[in-house]
Amino acid sequence: MINIPWPGVSGAPARLQPLLLPLYRQAGIEVSLLRLDELHSQVSGNKLFKLKYHLEQAMSAGYRRVISFGGAFSNHLHALAFAGRVMGLETIGVVRGEPGYADNPTLRDAADWGMRLHFVDRRTYRCKQTPEVADRLRDRFGDCYIIAEGGAGPPALQGCGEIFDAFPAGALAGTGLVGLAVGTGSTLAGLVAARPEHCRLLGFPVLRGGDFLYRDIASQLREAGLADSAGWQLQLDAHEGGYGRVSLQLAAFLHAFEQETGICLDPVYTGKLLLGFNRLVVSGGIAAGTRVVLIHTGGLQGLRGMAKTLYDRRSAFRGALPL
Ligand SMILES: *Cc1c(COP(=O)(O)O)cnc(C)c1O
Repeated sequence: MINIPWPGVSGAPARLQPLLLPLYRQAGIEVSLLRLDELHSQVSGNKLFKLKYHLEQAMSAGYRRVISFGGAFSNHLHALAFAGRVMGLETIGVVRGEPGYADNPTLRDAADWGMRLHFVDRRTYRCKQTPEVADRLRDRFGDCYIIAEGGAGPPALQGCGEIFDAFPAGALAGTGLVGLAVGTGSTLAGLVAARPEHCRLLGFPVLRGGDFLYRDIASQLREAGLADSAGWQLQLDAHEGGYGRVSLQLAAFLHAFEQETGICLDPVYTGKLLLGFNRLVVSGGIAAGTRVVLIHTGGLQGLRGMAKTLYDRRSAFRGALPL
């Protein structure tokens, strides 16, 4: 059972929802979606797991204040702001961009939950991991626990290994392949360290040129003192043009998938996972008989304010969709 001491997290396993697409039947595979997005109303999917041990460490070391970094639509900062509020920790979000961004739904929530927003230009943001920037932040905001962008780091890997505990009882035993969207790769790295032997992992990077993640994930594991169990791979062609980019086909796919299954996906992560996975199925990349679990890592808060863009893009799409 997941055991996260935050209001609204029940400790019950996530729902494992069968996906009954014609495509999967034709390929002779069984595919289900692990609904981490349903575990908490505000703290998005995998961010719950990434933050758990960071916040535990911060609390037990006596910190009252946590700083982290993100973009203007960051699921991570959104989750951190909420968690900070319910745990009684002060939170500071260092945001790449201009103060005008504070008006978007993501950062408005964060500010409503008490997060102080600190906007920095791209150059400063790029140096955020350096000791100089850490010192400057401590000068300005006082003593604080610093969480890397996206909640990366050893505590995140430890927490993400517990995603396996969110499978309903017995479900993991028959699962041959687990697929998930990959940003920083911390979630995948945590699963790599914790995976049962029979369960291979396939990550779908949402950024262009994601092959650096092979080395990066290996070094995240080393840094956390965890073994690289091998048995994992990246599917590098699912990025749709790069981080945050929404191709016409992706916009159309999100809509068609929701019509077909009733399930809402986000364009940055989970939409690319499902589209990329389905293309792989079409090309014969998944052996008949495989039981697959795809992880819905959440991120739906980021959809707010995107409706018009998504509508315009899907209306312009002409072609077939893998469903
Ligand atoms: C952050 C995020 C991811 C990626 O997690 P990483 O650990 O950075 O790879 C995937 N899906 C959603 C919805 C996210 O918010």
